[in-house]
Amino acid sequence: MLDYVDLEADLGQEERMVRDTAREFVEEHVKPDIGDHYEAGTFPEEIIPEMGELGFYAPNLDGYGLPNLSETAYGLLMQELEACDSGLRSMASVQGALVMYPIHAYGSEEQKERWLPDLGEGKAVGCFGLTEPEHGSNPSGMETYAEKEGDEYVLNGSKTWITNSPISDVAVVWARDRSAEDSPVRGFLVETDRDGVTTNQIHDKLSLRASITGEISLQNVTVPEDAVLPGVEGMKGPLSCLTQARYGIAWGAVGAARDCFETARDYATERDQFGGPIARFQLQQDKLAEMATQITTSQLLVHRLADLKERGDLRPQHVSMAKRNNVRMARDQARVAREMLGGNGITTDYPPMRHMANMETVYTYEGTHDIHTLVLGQDLTGIAAFE
Ligand SMILES: Cc1cc2nc3c(=O)[nH]c(=O)nc-3n(C[C@H](O)[C@H](O)[C@H](O)COP(=O)(O)OP(=O)(O)OC[C@H]3O[C@@H](n4cnc5c(N)ncnc54)[C@H](O)[C@@H]3O)c2cc1C
Repeated sequence: MLDYVDLEADLGQEERMVRDTAREFVEEHVKPDIGDHYEAGTFPEEIIPEMGELGFYAPNLDGYGLPNLSETAYGLLMQELEACDSGLRSMASVQGALVMYPIHAYGSEEQKERWLPDLGEGKAVGCFGLTEPEHGSNPSGMETYAEKEGDEYVLNGSKTWITNSPISDVAVVWARDRSAEDSPVRGFLVETDRDGVTTNQIHDKLSLRASITGEISLQNVTVPEDAVLPGVEGMKGPLSCLTQARYGIAWGAVGAARDCFETARDYATERDQFGGPIARFQLQQDKLAEMATQITTSQLLVHRLADLKERGDLRPQHVSMAKRNNVRMARDQARVAREMLGGNGITTDYPPMRHMANMETVYTYEGTHDIHTLVLGQDLTGIAAFE
């Protein structure tokens, strides 16, 4: 596997073990059928508990049976999952960074004990409801609201583009609490079998097909007052979760690009045209050289981010830079790899076009490329250009 500047040499034993376990799991249990799942628009749901047994959900958190692995180990895990398919990494990202993280960081002791072990083992599935039909890049405009009635909250609103909502047991729903002064955004843990909750699946995706995406409709849904995450108020709640998930995406995108590179390199050395392998043509070598360089620089960025995160110096803007750069890199390089495979490149027999289509989602979700550009612009100039 491409590791041009020997980053492997600095990995600890635990980090190598996590990477190898994920690589083996994916090779044996997911890769053989992922093209079929992609075509069918299904996710291999049977692997959800298997991934839990292997500790793939929020392994960088501690307590409640979670292993508290290093941020590098966590990143390597995301890299291996996305080298298979972005849908697989999305499953682990949502469950770990967008559902378990907020419960771990902001939940009550009862909420943590109720949900973290089950989510960690993949016995329960969670989803993260932030985006609404009219509010994507600007989630603070959200219309979903909660109102206190006695010792309960009543929730109304609708969320869309929610990964895993149709198969979730619990949704972290972000809503404005109209009973409190200034209607702050609060996080609510909503079991999806409550009256008034519906989670229709979105079927017509041409990207991230091996992932289940849906809506969450909330019509007079009653939850007890202890369903609110007590430890956070305001947009800091959802945004801090997104920083965790985007960190994993920045690593994951490198995995997808690496898989494209490996596929293109193998293909070029095996495919003969004009009396020999196409890898002997300078035009093809130029593509491989550029791909390897782009992947290597992206790898360096996420390894640095892991160090910053480990010592508590990681800023959301660092993550914006890495998410923005690495996903664009993977999107561009997947297309080059597809091109190198000629006609075969447009089939599900080879991964580049699947990765390429997946990257359209990854480029858009968790803050679009444009929005991360604006985050960096504001950080670099002190002037916000969002409005
Ligand atoms: C497959 C999939 C899974 C997803 N999973 C989840 C999930 O689990 N939970 C969840 O809450 N959300 C999820 N999302 C939603 C995702 O985060 C949003 O799609 C994303 O935030 C963009 O919002 P939007 O689609 O409404 O686009 P819009 O915000 O309408 O943006 C449209 C275009 O306008 C641009 N734009 C917007 N504002 C500006 C600006 N100020 N300056 C310049 N350009 C701008 C954008 O960059 C984009 O190109 C998912 C999306 C997809 C596709």
